[in-house]
Amino acid sequence: MPSYQSSIMTRRDFVRTSAAFAFSGTLFPVGRFLQQQAPVQTEFKELRQGIGYFTGRGGTIGWLVHPDALVVIDTQFPETAAMCLEGLGKRSGRNVDLLINSHHHGDHTAGNGVFRPKAQRILAHENVPVLQKAAAERSSRPAPQTYADTTYAKEWMGSFGDEVVKLRYWGAAHTGGDSVIHFEKANVVHTGDLVFNYVAPVIDTQGGASTENWIVVLEKMHKEFSDETIFIFGHGSAAKGITGTRGDVLAMRDYLSSLFSYVQEGVKQGKTADELAAIDKLPKFEAYSEGNLVERFRGGIRQTYSQLTKTQ
Ligand SMILES: [Zn+2]
Repeated sequence: MPSYQSSIMTRRDFVRTSAAFAFSGTLFPVGRFLQQQAPVQTEFKELRQGIGYFTGRGGTIGWLVHPDALVVIDTQFPETAAMCLEGLGKRSGRNVDLLINSHHHGDHTAGNGVFRPKAQRILAHENVPVLQKAAAERSSRPAPQTYADTTYAKEWMGSFGDEVVKLRYWGAAHTGGDSVIHFEKANVVHTGDLVFNYVAPVIDTQGGASTENWIVVLEKMHKEFSDETIFIFGHGSAAKGITGTRGDVLAMRDYLSSLFSYVQEGVKQGKTADELAAIDKLPKFEAYSEGNLVERFRGGIRQTYSQLTKTQ
């Protein structure tokens, strides 16, 4: 599986990882090495009614800062988790009442250990600890894991300050444990990695992904929320960023539909995964696989192929 880039890839990151890829032939190890070397740029931004995001390295962190509550979604990696925790401490002066993991991937959960001593509980869909453990056991570089201590199956709801936080699980999509997290009063949604905003997404079939149902989940998401809803996305392009509207959710649906149709048609014609992954872009979605994103794009084709042919 390709490595994750920061939520918003800078030009410098782009050049570095491209060069690393050309040099090594594999993006993952050298990309990670360079990520560790590159200085981290972080940003805290409030969006509405005490709810905002933090970007550093890895999936976008969401937060709610209220005089009576501190809620955090996702934890990136240990280094940026510490920066985020410090910044939130200054803003709220509280420990974390609720930490949510949107799904199990390392760029959203590797900082859990940093948050753990300050977090009353860690909440995730019930598949998340299982998938997280399995992924850690498969890893060639296993790291200590900190797991959610509270889980739910379909829906979870809680009050924090004057806000209501609602989690929903709509079935396999990016992984087998993706939560849609809604701050109901402020009408802000954290999508986790259900939306990669205008960039090719990681599709993790071994982690329970279903490209076909992901399309259904995004349609549900569009229907459930309104034009006033502010969305925080797990990842996004430098041009489009990591926040947006339900129109952006539909754009993600359109990309996945195009990818799914392409692979489905190829399977019908008896093509191999190698043959299907020989392209470097889909018509109308050229920007999604630009530069070093092409390997992640091709990975998405292979992952979808394996879902349709059960070859994994
Ligand atoms: Zn992910």
